[in-house]
Amino acid sequence: MSTTDLTTAPYEDLITALRGEVIRPGDPGYDEARAVYNGMIDKHPAAIARCRDTADVVACVRFARAHGVEIAVRSGGHSAAGLGVWDDALVIDLSLLRSTTVSPDNHTVRVDGGCTWGDVDHATVAFGMATPSGFLSSTGVAGLTLGGGIGYLSRRLGLTVDNLLAADVVLADGTFVTASESMHPDLFWALRGGGGNFGIVTSFTFRCHDIGEHGTIIGGPVLYDIGDTAEVMRWYRELVPSLPEELSGWIALLTIPPAPPFPEDLWGRKACGIVWCYTGPHDRADEVLAPVKEFGSPLIVGLHPMPFNVLQSAFDPLYPAGLQWYWRTDFFNEISDAAIDVHVKYGPLLPTGHSTVHMYPIDGAASRAPADATAFAYRDGGFAGVIVGVDPDPANAGLISQWARDYWEALHPASAGGGYINFMMSEGQERIKAAYRGNYDRLAQVKRRYDPDNTFHINQNIQPASGPSS
Ligand SMILES: Cc1cc2nc3c(=O)[nH]c(=O)nc-3n(C[C@H](O)[C@H](O)[C@H](O)COP(=O)(O)OP(=O)(O)OC[C@H]3O[C@@H](n4cnc5c(N)ncnc54)[C@H](O)[C@@H]3O)c2cc1C
Repeated sequence: MSTTDLTTAPYEDLITALRGEVIRPGDPGYDEARAVYNGMIDKHPAAIARCRDTADVVACVRFARAHGVEIAVRSGGHSAAGLGVWDDALVIDLSLLRSTTVSPDNHTVRVDGGCTWGDVDHATVAFGMATPSGFLSSTGVAGLTLGGGIGYLSRRLGLTVDNLLAADVVLADGTFVTASESMHPDLFWALRGGGGNFGIVTSFTFRCHDIGEHGTIIGGPVLYDIGDTAEVMRWYRELVPSLPEELSGWIALLTIPPAPPFPEDLWGRKACGIVWCYTGPHDRADEVLAPVKEFGSPLIVGLHPMPFNVLQSAFDPLYPAGLQWYWRTDFFNEISDAAIDVHVKYGPLLPTGHSTVHMYPIDGAASRAPADATAFAYRDGGFAGVIVGVDPDPANAGLISQWARDYWEALHPASAGGGYINFMMSEGQERIKAAYRGNYDRLAQVKRRYDPDNTFHINQNIQPASGPSS
């Protein structure tokens, strides 16, 4: 490897080698190309390579290795920690790779590495199918999948990684492999939760499932007054384990958005609510949803039939790219009384209209896989929690961050110990180890096998194991 200065590497060679564009400081579009979802992130990479195909990705990795340039990898750009872009790095940007191929007969979808979940849902719901993803359509498939993938379908169909069949990967030495249960199974295990540590995934193949009535589900929010938080949380924690797995719902503390379809007299009111998604047969919907409709005194019952991709994209307009974003996470085995006390104290203090708190169930099918079946370690049947400080105004960055930190400090003692890496800021090695529990050492071994020099380190980093190989 040469020791070329990072900013004076011969980028003209890279420009010649790629089908895609290379954008450098001073070029038109540089500021747009370096911007990511979180408006707090203001990194100045040495170059952004907007790859057009796998060959471009291979060329970028080889170029960076040859010239000692750091690599950042960006797909959907949703990492709140801003790990898809880095000062003085070469950003290998996959966001133009957006093709999907559905095989209705095989119930699979092959997805390019730069797709968002909106791309995938659009492709699969046309065939009445979906693969488990998250709760928003603008999130990147790559980052979400590589971290685990928690969403509306997790109770019924498992995490996103539980539905991954194969991944095409450009490795740190610039070679290319396909990982699956039968090919490079150690790498395949690590990719299913271990983040971007092991290579650059250029294509994913997922299992798909028939959902709802030809892709039409019944879903939407049921919202209660914030003063009902304790009562709603106690009811919700008892109810969820008793529900059929075709019904899932994440619980939130939020401010009712000042926009239709919410009634104007409720705009700006703080609320506790659950966003439900029922994916079973519609002739059973009344029976399954009865306990949801009968409980308490809701402000809004917004349950409607809709295509799955409509529910998936329902919150996109409320959270466009460019907002200030600071969040903290933990897993919870249960929503304990102590945790409810913290929510009752901090929930009403939501500092801005966009700030919110979510608890996502990871029970049912997601908890049936053993903790060491994939790199994703928290399979105890509880919840993934995230405290989300958000605001359009950079002047409020300190306010939302401090609120999220204080809330997290108070709630953490009621947690299972670690958090979801996809909901983490840059929080240090101990938090990363806590996220992987007993799987960390095995991940470090796989890291040493596939990326011994830690070429891919701008991520929630797993450091290559030292000592003899196991
Ligand atoms: C508004 C919002 C909603 C979200 N909702 C959910 C949700 O419902 N469920 C859930 O599980 N998570 C959710 N997340 C978290 C999300 O999964 C992570 O932020 C994820 O990392 C985003 O992936 P990305 O490709 O968009 O991000 P990027 O910023 O592009 O990348 C994130 C990380 O993945 C690495 N990476 C990106 N592409 C590749 C690749 N092709 N190969 C290898 N490594 C790569 C990057 O280096 C970086 O470390 C949400 C995030 C946001 C901001």
